[in-house]
This record gives sequence, C-alpha cells and structure tokens, in this order.
Amino acid sequence: MNYTLVESESELQARLKKGACVVAAGMTDLYPSGQLSHTDRDLLDITRVASLSGIIPTDDGWRIGATTSWRAILDYPWPPGLALLAEVAGQVGAVQVQNAATVAGNLCNASPAADSVPALLALDATVELASASGTRMLPLADFITGVRRTAIRDDEYLRAICLPAVPEPAASAFVKLGLRAYLVISIAMAGGVVRVDSSGRVEDVALSLGACSPVAVRLPAIEAALRGQPVSAALIDCVTPERVQPAIQPIDDVRASAAYRADAAVQVVRDTVAQMIERLA
Ligand SMILES: Cc1cc2nc3c(=O)[nH]c(=O)nc-3n(C[C@H](O)[C@H](O)[C@H](O)COP(=O)(O)OP(=O)(O)OC[C@H]3O[C@@H](n4cnc5c(N)ncnc54)[C@H](O)[C@@H]3O)c2cc1C
Repeated sequence: MNYTLVESESELQARLKKGACVVAAGMTDLYPSGQLSHTDRDLLDITRVASLSGIIPTDDGWRIGATTSWRAILDYPWPPGLALLAEVAGQVGAVQVQNAATVAGNLCNASPAADSVPALLALDATVELASASGTRMLPLADFITGVRRTAIRDDEYLRAICLPAVPEPAASAFVKLGLRAYLVISIAMAGGVVRVDSSGRVEDVALSLGACSPVAVRLPAIEAALRGQPVSAALIDCVTPERVQPAIQPIDDVRASAAYRADAAVQVVRDTVAQMIERLA
C-alpha cells in the first residue's frame, strides 16, 4: 500500500479515476477496522486539501467541508435549529477522536451506530459527491444504502455536506444512550429539529432514530402527530411505542438486546422532544 498526502482536488480526482484507491481523513474508522493491512489499494490522505476544509455559511444554509473535524463542529456558533450538531460532536469518542475524526468520514463509514446520521437526517442534509466527471448532490437518505454501504462510486469522494437553514423560532436536540457517558458506541440515539409558528404551534418538526435499524430512520408518524400542536409538555405523550417501533428493526448485539433497544428507542425520542420543548420555553 502506498500513502499519498494529496494536495488538491484535481490531484485527488485524477488518482481516484485511475482506481484502486482509498480516501482517508481522520482514519479513526479506517485504521482500527484493519482493512488497510490486507489491501493493495493506495491510501489518499485528503486532510491537507484546502478546498475541502471549513464550515461555510451559504445563501440558504451551511456547507460543511469533507475534512471538517468534530472539534470544529463542536466549536461552531450554530443557531438553535442546528445546535444539535454540537451536541453530537461533544459525544463522539473523546477529545482525541473529536480532533482527528471528520463528519464526512462518519457518513462514508455508514455504521448503523454513526452518531451524525440521525442529526443530519433531521436537518435534511444533502451530500455533494465529486469526481473527475463532475459533481452530484444526493439527499442523505439516498446516500447511505445499508450497513456500511453508500451510493458513492469508486471514482468519487464526498466533497461537502450541505444543510438548509432552519428559520427561528426553532430548537433542536440530540440524545444518545450508551453503556456509559463517554467513549461509547450508541445503543440508541435520536435527533430532532422543531420550528414554531407565530401562534406557538409546531410548524414543522423532524425526528430521527439511529442504531435501531441498518440505517438511521426518520419517524414520520410522530412528526405528523406533532405538527400543528401547541408547544407544551403534552407533546411528549405523542411519542408512543406504536408510533416508533414499526419504523425500526432493532437487533441483539454485544451492547443491548433487541427488546431493550425497542424500549430505549421510545425513551430517547421522548427525551429529545422534551429537550426541544424546554429550549423553546
Ligand atoms: C476510540 C473511538 C471512539 C469512537 N467513538 C465514536 C462515537 O462515539 N460515535 C461515532 O459515530 N463514531 C465513533 N467512532 C468512529 C469514528 O471516529 C467516526 O466514525 C469518525 O467520524 C470517522 O471519521 P474519520 O475522518 O476518522 O474517517 P476515516 O477513518 O478517515 O474514514 C472512514 C471511512 O470513510 C471514507 N472516507 C472518509 N472521508 C471520505 C470522503 N471525503 N470521501 C469519501 N470517502 C471518505 C474512508 O475511505 C473510510 O471508508 C469512534 C472511533 C474510535 C477509534
């Protein structure tokens, strides 16, 4: 395996076009996975490509470059509707991981327990994929296609994550359940974003749940039940097992049983709604 510190997107595109390459960012998934010890593909380190870095406000939202670390997400002054991203960032691994690891790497790794996915699904994120033959945009829901599977082609890389603005008044929340508070892979996690109209009712809401199915999912039955309701603690009771559990396919694994996950899923969504209500008060 050859290692290359790539200097520009044109160099990256040319190398990917030739084939037999692996894109590397923080390497916090790549290295522990052991994939590198039995591959003859070339490793393309993108962390020095200037055009892939940074969080940039756009006309209609934000653009998170591919090499943006969790630390940068944690430190960014997000408005209330996107502030859940900082909550995710503060709970990914520990400080060392947050400094090196990228949000884009978390998406491309496509683990069912990837903490960014429920939050970015609730934010209606799209990903920008680039290659020597052009650029295409995909909604995040179409990008992750299964356990550790994405729609990215071998000649492409993820250039940026694009987020629409969330008009205020708004609130957001991320709730993660693990076996302990830090350095832990999620048993279940939920992300939520709510917007309120001038009469204090829920104008729009997005809720999603991760680690309880092969790919994180939105929860349309709860979103529909909450829309149009006055903001009050009564909203928490709209989150019922009947509205959550049909959307998920929890499994037994080393972290939790499927039955425990099914119950925990309901609770993390209730906690997410409760936190959003508190933040709107
Ligand atoms: C101790 C530890 C704790 C962790 N805790 C958590 C946690 O709490 N929650 C969580 O969700 N994850 C956790 N992780 C997993 C990991 O840190 C995250 O998934 C991280 O965001 C991956 O980013 P990275 O930049 O290190 O990706 P890398 O390891 O560099 O890459 C991951 C995958 O994405 C591909 N890739 C990366 N960038 C691109 C790109 N721009 N275009 C195309 N392909 C790309 C790589 O080829 C590889 O397949 C933890 C890992 C460790 C080691």
